[in-house]
Amino acid sequence: MRANKDFHDARYAQTLVREIESLNQEQETRIVHVCGTHEDTISQHGIRSLLPRNINLVAGPGCPVCVSAAEDVDLAIELARRGHIITTFGDMIRVPSTTSSLAKERTAGADVRVVYGASESVSIARENPEREVIFVGVGFETTAPTIALELLGKPPANYSVLTSLKVIPPAMEILVNIEGFAVDGFITPGHVSSIIGSNAFQPFAEKTAVPCVVAGFEPLDVLESIRMLLKQMQEGRADSENEYTRVVKPEGNLAAQKVLAEVFRLGDAPWRGLGVIENSGYFIRDEFSNHDARLRFDIPHIESVDILPGCRCHEVILGMIDPSECSLFGKRCTPENPYGPCMVGHEGTCRIRHEYSFD
Ligand code: SF4
Repeated sequence: MRANKDFHDARYAQTLVREIESLNQEQETRIVHVCGTHEDTISQHGIRSLLPRNINLVAGPGCPVCVSAAEDVDLAIELARRGHIITTFGDMIRVPSTTSSLAKERTAGADVRVVYGASESVSIARENPEREVIFVGVGFETTAPTIALELLGKPPANYSVLTSLKVIPPAMEILVNIEGFAVDGFITPGHVSSIIGSNAFQPFAEKTAVPCVVAGFEPLDVLESIRMLLKQMQEGRADSENEYTRVVKPEGNLAAQKVLAEVFRLGDAPWRGLGVIENSGYFIRDEFSNHDARLRFDIPHIESVDILPGCRCHEVILGMIDPSECSLFGKRCTPENPYGPCMVGHEGTCRIRHEYSFD
């Protein structure tokens, strides 16, 4: 295991780049990652500029805030307008939805509070027993166990969760099956894999014949994972390998998986830009239905619009265009005033591209 300080070692980076060059097969090679933090590392450290020109690193649907469907945000807005306390992560309140955002609702007087996690939301519920407190739970397999733990811990009766929790492997399968979407290898997400394990991607790799490598988030982790993917391609293999061994175990975090299975069931979930994906979301089990905001409140059907006119987030999320190809990029849509969800948070591809536009 390398010490953390060595993960920016320029000499070792050069060695990895040389190995990548020697493994490079010259034809167009598309390597897709599905994690906003990987995109941040890649852009911040100019990793694309180190690679042979035929190796294309593509950002896929790896930003939880970006892929949260408009209908979930609209639901949270409706509950805020009814006078309930809405709690969620900072990025989520700025996500534009069909006609508004939680931030705009707060400006208009709604009680919308930013929290660090579900436990803080439970505390707010305890402090306000006469009010309904709803936690908008957004994230992937990494965030979901913390929300599940709070539900197992007997929260107060006035606390509920609006789940918008997503599972990554089914979205990867959708990408592979999109007509015209080429992918030669996946850099699989380190955070998610710390929960589900690197073995979780093996059936996917075998079924799709696309090599996968779990990667950490330092620049050398990313270069090493690209080298490992090219090696698999050269050998004609498609396996799930693990570059991030200092954190990710093959079997993952079994305690977290147990908690997830106790509280959530898998169900079909809407992803912004990708539509409804089978078994791609965590939903609250019947045993905890008293705390399920979707069941607790009588909410009429809301006609939601996922992609606002002119926004090309659906194409960015699918890795089909670079953010700079959107005519609103950096003009009508900026980090200070995001028009689409991909410009909101630090894991959004448009926001990252805007931040490191020298790349
Ligand atoms: S730049 Fe803004 S409007 Fe364009 S795709 Fe990105 S988030 Fe959407």
